[in-house]
Amino acid sequence: MEVENIKTVGVVGAGTMGHGIAQVFAQAGFEVVLVDQNLDFALKGKIRIQKNLEKSVLKGSLLMEDSERIANRISPFGDLEPLEKAQFIVEAAFESIEAKETLFKKVDRISPLETIFASNTSSLPITKLASFTKRGDRFIGMHFMNPVPIMKLVEVVSGFLTSDDTLNLTLLLCQKLGKVPVPANDFPGFISNRILMPMINEAIFAYMEGVGTKEGIDTVMKLGMNHPMGPLELADFIGLDVCLSILEILNSQFGDPKYRPCPLLRKMVQAGLLGRKTKKGFYDYP
Ligand code: NAD
Repeated sequence: MEVENIKTVGVVGAGTMGHGIAQVFAQAGFEVVLVDQNLDFALKGKIRIQKNLEKSVLKGSLLMEDSERIANRISPFGDLEPLEKAQFIVEAAFESIEAKETLFKKVDRISPLETIFASNTSSLPITKLASFTKRGDRFIGMHFMNPVPIMKLVEVVSGFLTSDDTLNLTLLLCQKLGKVPVPANDFPGFISNRILMPMINEAIFAYMEGVGTKEGIDTVMKLGMNHPMGPLELADFIGLDVCLSILEILNSQFGDPKYRPCPLLRKMVQAGLLGRKTKKGFYDYP
């Protein structure tokens, strides 16, 4: 398939990532089928997109009529059937191998064989997800960053069977979205989380051991290393449960103790201190 043949894109999951992914495809001129577990969730995703677009109109970076045109390209659904119209499908459902297995098996039955599947997974093996379908060569990882409309990077992850045609088409598609794609191979954590998570984990060890205060650790990384956010602040933003689960995957798949999650991280997750989403993590968010 050529990138010009892609007119309709399916997005499965209208949550944090899915609504942003649907938005950037619609902004680039694609028709978008936005699917969630029920119509209500899909509609909520579309409302979030409309609010994002309204903000751009208020800021003066988007014309009102363009914002309406973009929103009109997005059709929300509460079932998978309408995905049959899509030539390219991005999955952004829950980060669970069991949930994704059930989902991909169903979508594989619905979609024409030439349709390309991409998963936005942060940590699950692309090769394993592809094995739930009959299109290993037309299956790829498309790892967008949060918030999708703002963050330029997309890690494009080739599974063991991903064809060069699928890779090249996905790279072109990312460029059409105004993103900067970086190809990666299918190893645990890809490039981003393999480097980011050990840094966050080490910052938590340093805090636990009393090397510095939380503010001190974040300030060193911001002012000393020019990071826009300190690692503890960033962990709160990502979600401590998400950080822990990615570290568990790195630890178990590489079998290397350098990825062992810090006991303090584990304890905070057990206590329900998950960061911004629970209003309490390393910092308070009243
Ligand atoms: P989320 O919980 O905000 O959204 C997931 C959505 O998928 C929900 O609306 C849910 O109802 C829907 N869903 C679940 N199962 C479904 C099914 N069978 N059919 C249709 N819809 C279904 O999660 P999220 O943060 O958007 O994460 C989605 C994916 O993106 C995960 O794989 C995650 O690892 C990945 N990711 C997340 C981030 C992030 O910062 N949040 C960044 C990069 C990648």
